[in-house]
Formats: sequence, C-alpha cells, structure tokens
Amino acid sequence: MAGIYISWPFCAQKCTYCNFASGVQPRGLEEQYLTALIAELQSAPEADTLYLGGGTPSAMDPPAIEKLNSTLSRTWREATLEAAPGSLTADRIRAWQGAGINRISLGVQSFVRPELARTGRKHDAAGVIHDVALLRDLGIRNISVDLIAGLPGQTPQSWQTSLDALIALEVPHASVYMLEVDDDSRLGSEILLGGKRYGALDVPNENQIADSYETAVEHLARHGIRRYEISNFATPGAESAHNLKYWHRDPYFGYGSDAHSFDGITRWQNVETALEYVDRFGRGESPRTASTRPDPAEEKFFVGLRLAEGVQPDASDWLRYGAAFERHLANGMLESSNGHLRLTNRGIMVSNEIFEEFVAA
Ligand code: SF4
Repeated sequence: MAGIYISWPFCAQKCTYCNFASGVQPRGLEEQYLTALIAELQSAPEADTLYLGGGTPSAMDPPAIEKLNSTLSRTWREATLEAAPGSLTADRIRAWQGAGINRISLGVQSFVRPELARTGRKHDAAGVIHDVALLRDLGIRNISVDLIAGLPGQTPQSWQTSLDALIALEVPHASVYMLEVDDDSRLGSEILLGGKRYGALDVPNENQIADSYETAVEHLARHGIRRYEISNFATPGAESAHNLKYWHRDPYFGYGSDAHSFDGITRWQNVETALEYVDRFGRGESPRTASTRPDPAEEKFFVGLRLAEGVQPDASDWLRYGAAFERHLANGMLESSNGHLRLTNRGIMVSNEIFEEFVAA
C-alpha cells in the first residue's frame, strides 16, 4: 500500500547548515499553509504509513495535526512525526497519539553542547534523555534519533560521546547523516567567503567524516543496531516502514511545499516554498511542478543499492550494466552473494558516483 508524506516547512530557528526551503516564517503564512494543505489532502489515496516531516512538525499546534489526521481518516501501520528535542510535553505527546502518531523521529544531531550551539539548535543531551523517557512513559517506544557526522568542531572523541549517548538511550532506530554543506546555507557561505561565526574553520574534512561514519556503523552494529540503508540503522523489525517504500520503489504521495511523490510510474514534486504553495492554492492552481517518468531499470540500482540487502540483477540488467558491475566488483566497491549485489563500505563512500553510472547507461 502507498505511503503519505506531509511537509511542514516551519521551524523555530534556521540551522546554520540547512538549505531546505524551511525556516522561521510568519504565523499568518502557517495558517494559510494549513488551509491549502488540508485542501490538497482531500485527494490523498489509501495508505498505511504517514510521515510528517519538515521543517519542524512538532511545533505545529496539536489541533492542526488532529485536523490533518481527521482529513485523512486512515488507520496507520506506522505514523511518524519529526520532533525537535526539548519541545516535548506530555500534553503534546498525548495530542499526537490522539491524532494517530505512533513513531517519533528526534532531530538530535549531536549530544555535545558546543556542537549543537554552533548549528543553532536549542536543545541539549539532558533534554533528549528527558524526551525519550517521556515518550516511553506515554507508550511510544518506536523512537528514532538522528545524528550528523562532521559538524563543526566535532572530533573522534566528541563523536564517540554522541554515539555512546545514543546507545545508552536504547532506541530501536537511528539515522546517521554525513554533513553535506550546501553553498546556500549560512555555514556554506562562511566556508566559501570566510568567517568564524558558524565554525567554518572547524568543519572536519571528508576523510574525517568518512571515518566517523564508519565508526558509527561498527559501533551501532556491536549494539544490535544494524545498517539497513546508507543512513539508516535499526534493531531487527524496527526499520521504518514508510521510508522503506522510497527504496523499494513503492508508491508514496507527498503533500505540502517541496513534497515529492511517486505513483509507481511517474515522479513529481510540489513547488519549493510555503509562499509559492499558498500562492498557487490562492489562484486555484495545482502545486505540482515538473513530472518525470523514470526508467525502472535505472532506478532499480540507483535507488535499490542504497539498501544493505542490495539488488538482484536479472539477465537484462547484466546485459545493460554488466561492465559496471564487473568493474566495481573488481575494485571492491560492490560485493556479491546469493545473486544480490551490494555496496561495500568503500562503495558507500563514493555511492553518488556509482549511482550516476546507472543513469542513462
Ligand atoms: S535543519 Fe531542520 S530544524 Fe533546522 S532549519 Fe532545517 S528544516 Fe528546520
């Protein structure tokens, strides 16, 4: 069955590394956005997973979440809400549960205060521990924690502190992202133009970030949290059912600004900013922008190789991509077993270059 993604692009602060079309925006725009979103959701298909992402959907007024849920009126196998640590209260969590939410993804990023301070985030490690305990007390055990490898000032020791803190929480799911600084973010322009405010001089280099990622893979695996996708780790059975749809090429439908959709044949996305989204709604126009019909054979590898389970090529795949398979098996970027091809740890580090070989090959 399909998944539904809802984008809530409003945040309490703009993080220094972020270049999403999300951030601090006027309150009036939020209200108009909610009206447009509810109108767009009227056409949502049957689905069994929901993902409320952003932005910071945990900052949404609980009645607004309830409104979204009653518009959809589905029974969710998995319904995730992305939450900013430090903002959780028992009343909010109960309201989320009342609206069907049964999984929380906490945007922790680091457990080390100076690293967090430089990103612009307001929480600290104690707040995260409090949030996880509160969620569990109220019956939500399906919790994910995000970390970023490569934040300004991060060292092997401070990274280990964050990994140890994550393990101590005993959450069943984690996402570990390698910092990618976009030139358009405040940290990105500081790296380009110079300055010290956001820690541009202290961003670890590519090799250090790759080492931190590999340390995370090993450390989490030792504690039973195994990588099932390049950036995602879970105890057995705690993999995100919604996110797996992306990598299995199952249908998903995105609502709100910058939301992406795939119906099994065609991909499309909505306009990027909340303002454009509201404007289109005001003019009675669809928020959709250009759509594409991807080649399933390309996407089988482009998307599927992200998964630790890998991809099983058939005879036509070998005809089309055989040379690339052989080359990467020989150079140690791919490995093969039981008829499946998988990225090796080394292959993951250059995965974007490998994926490109499967586009228009
Ligand atoms: S990183 Fe997340 S919380 Fe920070 S500004 Fe971007 S979308 Fe908002």
